[in-house]
Amino acid sequence: MALIACPACNKRISSRSSSCPACHCPLGDADLERRDSHLRIQRIQRQQRFMLWNAMALLLFTGGAALAFWLGIDVPWQVLTGQVMMAVGLISYLGVRAWQIFSK
Ligand SMILES: [Zn+2]
Repeated sequence: MALIACPACNKRISSRSSSCPACHCPLGDADLERRDSHLRIQRIQRQQRFMLWNAMALLLFTGGAALAFWLGIDVPWQVLTGQVMMAVGLISYLGVRAWQIFSK
């Protein structure tokens, strides 16, 4: 029995198993087409995850901007909270983008 890397999730699995126990990616030559569609689905799910993270970071940023420059304009702690939210949102957005680029 040899250990191979799963083509979808890169986990070490037995070369004899018919599918990956971690991500259920089908293995073996007979399953090339199924494996292809599995990989495609995983890639789409990954992109959707990144889009969700990006949306949350942007929401945090715009929410912070609204609080800092509009809703809490005369309330110092709200302005501060808004600025912190903007900073966290911006850093998260850049972090997600960098993660997305480097994980390709
Ligand atoms: Zn796997």
